[in-house]
Amino acid sequence: MKKVVKFYNSLTRKKEEIYPSNNKTIKMYSCGPTVYSYPHIGNFRAYLFMDNIRRTLKYCGYSLDGAMNITDVGHLTSDADEGEDKMLVASEREHKSPWEIAKFYTEVFMRDAKRLNINLPEHIVPATSVIPEIIKFVQGLMEKGYAYETSKGIYFEIAKFKDYGKLSGMNIEEKLAGARIAVDDKKRSPYDFVLWVKAPKEHIMQWDSPWGKGYPGWHIECSVIGDKFFGDSIDIHTGGVDHKPVHHENEIAQSNAFYGKQVVKHWMHLEFLQIDSGKMGKSLGNTYTLDDLEKQGFKPEVFRYFYFMAHYSKQQNFTREAMEGAKNSLKNMKNLVKEHKVGTNKVDTSSYQKEFIDAIADDLNMPNALAVVIKMLKEERSKDVYEAFLKFNEVLGFSLEEEEIPSDILDLAEKRWQAKKAKDFTLADNLREELSKKGFTIKDTRDGYEITKN
Ligand code: AMP
Ligand code: ZN
Repeated sequence: MKKVVKFYNSLTRKKEEIYPSNNKTIKMYSCGPTVYSYPHIGNFRAYLFMDNIRRTLKYCGYSLDGAMNITDVGHLTSDADEGEDKMLVASEREHKSPWEIAKFYTEVFMRDAKRLNINLPEHIVPATSVIPEIIKFVQGLMEKGYAYETSKGIYFEIAKFKDYGKLSGMNIEEKLAGARIAVDDKKRSPYDFVLWVKAPKEHIMQWDSPWGKGYPGWHIECSVIGDKFFGDSIDIHTGGVDHKPVHHENEIAQSNAFYGKQVVKHWMHLEFLQIDSGKMGKSLGNTYTLDDLEKQGFKPEVFRYFYFMAHYSKQQNFTREAMEGAKNSLKNMKNLVKEHKVGTNKVDTSSYQKEFIDAIADDLNMPNALAVVIKMLKEERSKDVYEAFLKFNEVLGFSLEEEEIPSDILDLAEKRWQAKKAKDFTLADNLREELSKKGFTIKDTRDGYEITKN
């Protein structure tokens, strides 16, 4: 039996029921990482949010199909069409090719996502792997009269799309009146955004296209990858609030213009992680990675617990004290779970089960869900409580094993997975052998792989 789930929709500004438009499977798209540097814990708040939605929907009885992009080309240092490609900046900084940069940071992202036990989408797709599809989509937009060519590239003409600005509530006419001079003065409006950039000769990442050599703009990859898996109907789209005013407005314009209908039904946005009540940013030098947290004595799982302590629609403040609190609470939780595992009392957990599912199905109220779990664990020691906790843990995603998998082992496992995907079976077999010598077994599953300590 399915539980009715209601999530806040940023587009309609109301809590609305989630259901699969095709009566079968909920289709969910999530904006993925730009793989030009180490992902920080703010980024991972966004992917824990995605994980939270995925696990909640599954818990509530829905089947789910998810897709996420990996941005490995075209994301400029500003979210609009200004600055340099982040991949090229990283490539100069690290004296590596943009391809090496992308490979390295994709692996770091996947490894860290695994350390956080994030339930990743079924389809994870680098932008550079869908260049022909992107070209076709841009051609489609041109044929439909939404895009035009200049000497610099192909642009989307926002004046042709009447709903532009609806998601973020911006008044585009007012904005246009006060606009700066456009970067490309051939653009019909400064807010027209680039779909395809004509590459200067020295630009490393470029592909043949009907408009000469070039590379895609940033926003188009999400419309195209969404289209590739889900066509003209996407039930849920997730991302950070920073994406609302530019990236998501542009995605909506591209997809809806292409299909002549509303493609994404439900938009969900995560508020930012702050540090010591201020903005966190790479340029401010106050971002932390999971490795930084480990050095401070916090395992990735503590950050997972910390994520549950605030609602996704509120900014969350990262402080050492809050993390210490999360660490202690998690430790207590695990100790109690262990005691319940061997408990002999009888406890009726049905009211807790109801309260828990009501909380998560009410726009992911994780602070309430956590409170229910804590209350239940205070019961007389009972296997019934243990069983109920195991069920709740499908959403919470904590590890109940004694032994955590070390990060060098996760690295090897991820390398093997990448080798397997690249059909380098010799390397994959060698890495499996190496893992086995180190005392770990790797098993392929439907969604990826599992590592266990022998
Ligand atoms: P990027 O790799 O820069 O494209 O960002 C990946 C994701 O992290 C996006 O969904 C952003 O909205 C999100 N993000 C970036 N910084 C933060 C932060 N401080 N708190 C929460 N989410 C963030
Ligand atoms: Zn996106």
